Amino acid sequence: MNNREFLKIYKSLLLEREKMNLLFNRIIVVLVMIFTVTATFAAENSSEDFGKICILTNKDYKIYSIQVAHSRGAASNFESVDPNEEFKQTAEDYDSSVNVFVIEFKSDGKRIMIDCGFGAEKDKLQELLKEAGIPNESISDLYITHMHLDHVGGIKDFPKAKVHIAKEEYEAWKTDSKRQNLSNFMRPQEEMHLFSFDEEFSNGLKAIKCAGHTPGHTVYNIGNIYFIGDLMHAAELQYPHPSFSHIKYDMNREEAAKSRKLAKDTFHGEWLGAHVPFPGTIMNP
Ligand SMILES: [Zn+2]
Ligand SMILES: [Zn+2]
Repeated sequence: MNNREFLKIYKSLLLEREKMNLLFNRIIVVLVMIFTVTATFAAENSSEDFGKICILTNKDYKIYSIQVAHSRGAASNFESVDPNEEFKQTAEDYDSSVNVFVIEFKSDGKRIMIDCGFGAEKDKLQELLKEAGIPNESISDLYITHMHLDHVGGIKDFPKAKVHIAKEEYEAWKTDSKRQNLSNFMRPQEEMHLFSFDEEFSNGLKAIKCAGHTPGHTVYNIGNIYFIGDLMHAAELQYPHPSFSHIKYDMNREEAAKSRKLAKDTFHGEWLGAHVPFPGTIMNP
């Protein structure tokens, strides 16, 4: 698949993008301020190119895709695990993002969140939730795809929400010396719901093991929507060429590549990824 075909798929959405009004409002505010504030504003304005909200809807839910940070990933960090892979990278780097997703159920207004960013001191999630009119207390549950700082750093900002993590991921983390610094961000074990992959949640959400990036990396599925977490860090490269793993981030590169291939073959619908360029959507037909 070439880049043009990728972009075509990338842009066709099952979910309808309702509005990007928050970004639009922000542009108006910025324009007004440019006329009224001195030149020092220019520096602040340049940081406004991240921190966006996109609202995606279908008949059952409203999904807020919230970009809490923006980045680019160097091409040199990606290598194929398949010795027969013929694709050679030409790009120097790839667009990336840190996206957090809020699902609002239309039936009862209940809100749940998939991952929760780096935490209030380090990203824009709190500011953006305020802009979207979503109080922290209105989030009833946090579903964690895996235990890395950009996914669990915000847990403490949602003291009322129930935290769900795959037992396999939690157990693997407990014995992983490289990730122990995350203990400051976690709740005590007995206060979280550590689930097994065959468990079903009452809201229709399902958890699917999609390991490789971490041992218990979890994809959450509802209807034909898949929250793929860190299945990919450079969608432009890894969606068409799933054998390319991140040499630093994917703990088991072979397994991560297998998970990406399996996802392409079996997760038919719309994907929402934590590091897929904002708003994080990929259509997998
Ligand atoms: Zn990760
Ligand atoms: Zn991540």
